[in-house]
Amino acid sequence: MSTVENGGITVVSLALLGTLVAVFNMFITSAKLQKQALIESTLQSNEAYASKLADSTQLFLENTQLELAYSANEIAKHWPDHSYFEEEVSRLSEKNRVFNSVVFTNESGIVLSSSDRASELRGQVLRSPGNIQALAERRPLMSQPYESQIGNLLVLISHPVYHNDGRYLGYIGGTIYLEEDNILSRLLDEHHYKDGSYTYVADSHRRLLYHPDKSRLGTTVEANTAISLALSGATGALRIVNSKNIEMLSGYAYIPAAQWAVVSQRPIESTLQAHEGLMRKIFLHSLPFNLGILALIWLCGWWISNPLRQLARNAKNMKQRATIQRIERIPTWYFEANELKKAFLYGLQNIHDHVGQLRQDVHTDPLTGLHNRRSLEHILEKCERSNTPFAIIYLDIDHFKRVNDTYGHDIGDEVLKELALIMQHSSREQDLSIRLGGEEFLVFLPDCPLNRASEIAERLRINVENHPFEQVGHITISLGVAAWPAHHHDTAFVLKLADNMMYAAKQGGRNQVRTAPVSELTNSDA
Ligand code: GH3
Ligand code: MG
Ligand code: MG
Repeated sequence: MSTVENGGITVVSLALLGTLVAVFNMFITSAKLQKQALIESTLQSNEAYASKLADSTQLFLENTQLELAYSANEIAKHWPDHSYFEEEVSRLSEKNRVFNSVVFTNESGIVLSSSDRASELRGQVLRSPGNIQALAERRPLMSQPYESQIGNLLVLISHPVYHNDGRYLGYIGGTIYLEEDNILSRLLDEHHYKDGSYTYVADSHRRLLYHPDKSRLGTTVEANTAISLALSGATGALRIVNSKNIEMLSGYAYIPAAQWAVVSQRPIESTLQAHEGLMRKIFLHSLPFNLGILALIWLCGWWISNPLRQLARNAKNMKQRATIQRIERIPTWYFEANELKKAFLYGLQNIHDHVGQLRQDVHTDPLTGLHNRRSLEHILEKCERSNTPFAIIYLDIDHFKRVNDTYGHDIGDEVLKELALIMQHSSREQDLSIRLGGEEFLVFLPDCPLNRASEIAERLRINVENHPFEQVGHITISLGVAAWPAHHHDTAFVLKLADNMMYAAKQGGRNQVRTAPVSELTNSDA
């Protein structure tokens, strides 16, 4: 491929490369921004979810306390009606599925009444941490989770029962087994989705109460910033690394009534997987459009570089005259290319003019404007090459020295110039008048038979003889005629022969034409 075409391709390639870089950059930037936006929105939605769960749980626990308060009030009213205690306790445990068991103890912790599930406790003294705390503090309470005697992890929500006279009668309390099906577990458990999101709950001792991985329930989570921040009472979101070293986008919130932390989180990887899929889709969807744009740029680039490419290609052939016409035909459809073309044409025309002038100068005699000896050599070669026959008239001014001596060299020059004009008028249009040097001249007659050349020589002789030269008056010339290849196959020989004939004319008395006889050839060859 030529340098010129390479140049055109470079322009187009540059345009394409620029576009590719721009598209790539745009794609990467938008991917980055979308990734950030996705992480941000995942963090926000996890925070909103954790916060919503915490609020619902808080509301649920507050309602539960209200229910217990109502029952405590009713029991106090009906004190010491034991059958009413039974009625209230079973109403509380059956009415809704909040509690797994309900008990009413007296001020010493002896169970006076209990729901069916805890019927074996009736008459016994309860010694679990929740019961001890309720008896000791005598106020509405929710215990920290603890293990029951039979190994169930539970919380006790209790309300004191005070007689109208202010006496402490005991408390009514409901247990919620964290690992069993109840409203609380339905509220807080089993929040994990196909996208890898899940939720967990930890108590104030950082113990896991709810977690999709059941084997971890009851274990303590030491290093977890989300739990720490939630337990400090804050609501928010952050990126953390979980216990399995997986980076998570976590939202957290606090449940004041239970002093628990709720964390909702999603692995960053699964979030970004969706993003990668999205970017792949965007890439594939935009591919035809982008390819179209690239093709368009390629076409535009080619179209813009086309005039330049053609100019450059023609610049390599500056010597040829046809180049000017070719450049004129190049469609330069925009300002810069058009100016370039104009400048190019101007320069080229100049070069051609100068070269033409130089060429002419080299082949021209400065005094007479006739062709010179170099021109003769050139035309001889040409005729030899093309095998064009020609005749030569060799001529010399008679006694020119005298003219110079009498009228001066300058007048002599004027005579030479006038003679040159007579030579041109006396010969045919296709003939060439040549000044060989000094006052010796030659008429070159292509495609001219010898006899015709002799006639032309004679006409020239007469014209000179009859012409009144300014200041000088009349002069005469002697002429010798020979032809190629009629006289000899060697052009130099024919030239010399014509010279000899001219010399013979001088010898013969001047002012005459001597034509080399054809027999001369045989003589000279011999
Ligand atoms: P002939 O040829 O008849 O024998 O006599 P001639 O006087 O012409 O003799 P010759 O050819 O020997 O002399 C040529 C003269 O032409 C010599 C020189 O003074 C003159 N001459 C040569 N070149 C020029 C020129 O360029 N200008 C002028 N004015 N004279 C020139
Ligand atoms: Mg001479
Ligand atoms: Mg002479």
